This record gives sequence, structure tokens and C-alpha cells, in this order.
Amino acid sequence: MKIVIVGAGPAGVSAAETIRAYDRQAKIVMLSAEPYLPYSPPAMADHFITGSNSHLWRGKGWPKQIGVDYRKGVEVSQIEPEAHRLQLKDGKTLKYDRLIIATGSRLYAPVEGSDMPGVHNFKSLSAAEAIVAQIKSKKARTAVIVGAGFIGMEIALLLRELGVDVIQVEMLDQVMSSMLDKDTAAIALHLMQDRGVDVRLNTKAKAFLGKRKAKGVQLSAGKVLEADILIAATGVKPNLDLLEGSGIEHKWGIRVDDHLRTSAADIYAAGDAVEVPDRLTGEVSVHAIFPNAVEQGRVVGLNLAGYDVRYEGGDRMNSLKHLGLPIMAVGLKEGDEKVQGKQNGDLRTIYLKENRLVGFQLVGDIRAAGIMRTLIMQGSDVRPLKHHLLDPNFGQGMMVWQAIAPYA
Ligand SMILES: Cc1cc2nc3c(=O)[nH]c(=O)nc-3n(C[C@H](O)[C@H](O)[C@H](O)COP(=O)(O)OP(=O)(O)OC[C@H]3O[C@@H](n4cnc5c(N)ncnc54)[C@H](O)[C@@H]3O)c2cc1C
Repeated sequence: MKIVIVGAGPAGVSAAETIRAYDRQAKIVMLSAEPYLPYSPPAMADHFITGSNSHLWRGKGWPKQIGVDYRKGVEVSQIEPEAHRLQLKDGKTLKYDRLIIATGSRLYAPVEGSDMPGVHNFKSLSAAEAIVAQIKSKKARTAVIVGAGFIGMEIALLLRELGVDVIQVEMLDQVMSSMLDKDTAAIALHLMQDRGVDVRLNTKAKAFLGKRKAKGVQLSAGKVLEADILIAATGVKPNLDLLEGSGIEHKWGIRVDDHLRTSAADIYAAGDAVEVPDRLTGEVSVHAIFPNAVEQGRVVGLNLAGYDVRYEGGDRMNSLKHLGLPIMAVGLKEGDEKVQGKQNGDLRTIYLKENRLVGFQLVGDIRAAGIMRTLIMQGSDVRPLKHHLLDPNFGQGMMVWQAIAPYA
């Protein structure tokens, strides 16, 4: 059987490794539009700061080791499901028996002028290299970043590490609004400011301005901010151009069933390109985080290897590594009850719905994250544990057992 995987991000890599673990015979072809071996987007900043190649998370020998026919710089322009054939951008075609769409996402920038040359993003390694090249050649000393979501924060911190003066504008009244509650976001904001990032909340960008090349950002309030580098970090959008004319059902992302099959026979999809139900709320949307991509790739891989595996739903979780103080946010950031504890600069906030843990935010000591996540997944009644959850020792060996045992 010939399995073609379009995209070499975490979803595609995880699918390939899972298939190979169970099926030594399948021919696996992996196509990447980019000229690199598989890389981890969250590790890009470290790569540019330390010079290490840890972003090449599977190592240089990976395709050979697992027996994947890896083709770099090959972009799929169209899928023909009836013919089981792909049209490639270079004019060639490629047949498949089974197809996995793992094309990930790209910048979504609903700001006028964002498609102009001179507007950068941090969504791919090639895009990130273009930014860093300007800084290293000393052509850029100042930057304006539009958006303070988690990708915006990563690039802001990287630029500060590289000695760039950074203004970051955010239209909302907090940073990282999709991930952090207001209390945790306030701490993250202070940490950003301590690093010298000039974060301006409640500040909306109206347009990128320039003739042939963007030179500044016009704010809704009228002012224009000019800088050597302009970066849009306003959100992400699934890469779906290749679906044009294929009839494969999609809205914002690709629609899949509970086995991650698309509406076309023999075609599966995984990662940032798909819409899946949220594990906690059932709400269907794109859950664009690394662990979801890996898990979806694993489920697709198992189904292609002949198993019958249902996808349980997307998780919401993220951690911030570069702020100097660990922050971890998992699940929902609202509930019918909020319980909060502060100690020695650490902050723990937990959210409950009908006495079930549905989310938590940890600042400082994040060692309890694993056990708390397990409690969310189990969906059990945590009423008797509620205040133990705020205890800094919760999550460490005996403490967990002592807290749970009487009620288990
Ligand atoms: C800077 C940054 C930091 C992040 N930090 C975190 C973090 O801390 N924690 C976390 O959980 N998540 C993080 N994420 C998100 C995480 O990286 C993504 O959720 C994950 O990479 C999605 O994996 P994927 O395989 O679906 O897609 P991607 O990683 O986007 O890979 C898709 C690949 O498909 C290729 N492709 C697209 N279209 C085609 C085509 N037509 N033909 C051939 N190839 C194609 C693309 O070039 C790309 O290489 C971060 C993302 C970025 C950009």
C-alpha cells in the first residue's frame, strides 16, 4: 500500500512513525513544501538563540531510519480524490492508495496591507529565517509586532534576546487571550515588560502602510508606528488551498469524522488543518497546538495500520517557556467556580464546572500539571480535593495519594 503524507509537521511525522511501527511493508511518501527536514515550530526560537539544531526534533537521519521517502520542497497544488492522484506545483503528478492531509496552518492577518512585502510572520522556519537574517545583517534594530497571542509573544522575546527594540500592539485588554485568564495574563504581561517589550494593550492595528514595501503600522486611533521590521502575529488559518475543486468538505478547517477520515474515500487529515470537537465542551474547531497534532497523527496512523481507533477530542493546553517563570494553562479558563491560591510568587487558579475540574492555570511551580490534567480527563467529582489542589505540595508523591485515597 502506498501512503502519501502531505506536510512534515508534527501531525505528519507522528502519522508516519505510527504507521511504520505497525506496518513494515507500507510505502510511505512524505511531501514538504518547505526545504527542510521535519522541524518543531515551538523550538525555532531556541534554535535562533542558542544555535542548536534541537528544532530538527527527529534528527537528520529520520527519513532513512523509519523508511520514509521524504521529498523536500514539493508542494501539492490539488487533490483528485476520484483518481487517487495529486497534482504538484512543479507540474508532476503523484498517485496514492491512502492520503493524509497534514498541511498545518499559516498566518491569518485580517489587517489591511498584510500581504505586502515587508510584512513578516513567525509561522514557518523560512519566514523566521527571513526575520533573523535581517537582524544578523544589522539591517534591523527596531520591530513592531501586531498581536500578543502565544506566537506573538515568542517572537517578541526572541527579538529582545537578539537586541531588537520591540513594540507589540494588542487590540484586546490582555495578552494571550485564547490561553490565559486575566490574572495569569497580567503576570505574563509584567514578565514581558521586564524583558523590555513595549506591550501596548487596547491598541488596534488598522493597516500596514507603504508603497511597494510596508514601512509602518497605522493604528485605529490614527498614529503610525514605523520600524525596521514589521511582523503580523494575528492568528493562524489552515492551509487548504490544495482542497480547491476536490469536493473534500471543509469550513475553517477540514471536516473529519471520529476516526479523522475526511469526506473523500481513503483520505484522512490531522493537525492544525482539521476541525475536531473539544474534549471538554464538544465544540468543533481547529485546536492548533503541538500535542493535538501529534495525537491526531497517531490516531490516523493507527487507523491506516488496520486498527479501529476513535479520536477522543482536542485538548487546550500550553506552556510558556521563555518568560523566566514557568506558566502552564490547561483546559477552560472559566467555570461555575474559580478557586485561586497565591504563595511565594506562585499563582494557582482552578476552574470547576459541576464539581469537575475543567481547567487550571499555574504560574511558577507547575509540577502539579500532570495530575491535574489527569483529573480533567477523568472528569471525576473533585469536590473533596478542591482545596488540596491549591496546596503547593499537591502533585508530589504522597500528597496526591493522601488527597485522593479517602475518596477513591
Ligand atoms: C512560533 C511557534 C510557536 C509555537 N509554540 C507552541 C507551543 O509552545 N506549544 C504548542 O503546543 N504549540 C505550539 N505551536 C503550534 C504548533 O507548532 C502547531 O500546532 C503544530 O506545528 C501543528 O502541526 P501540523 O503538523 O498540523 O502543521 P505544521 O507544523 O504547520 O506543518 C505543516 C507542514 O505542511 C507543509 N505544507 C503545507 N501545505 C503544503 C502543501 N500544499 N504541499 C506540501 N506541504 C505543505 C508546510 O510547509 C508545513 O511544513 C507553535 C507554533 C509556532 C509557529
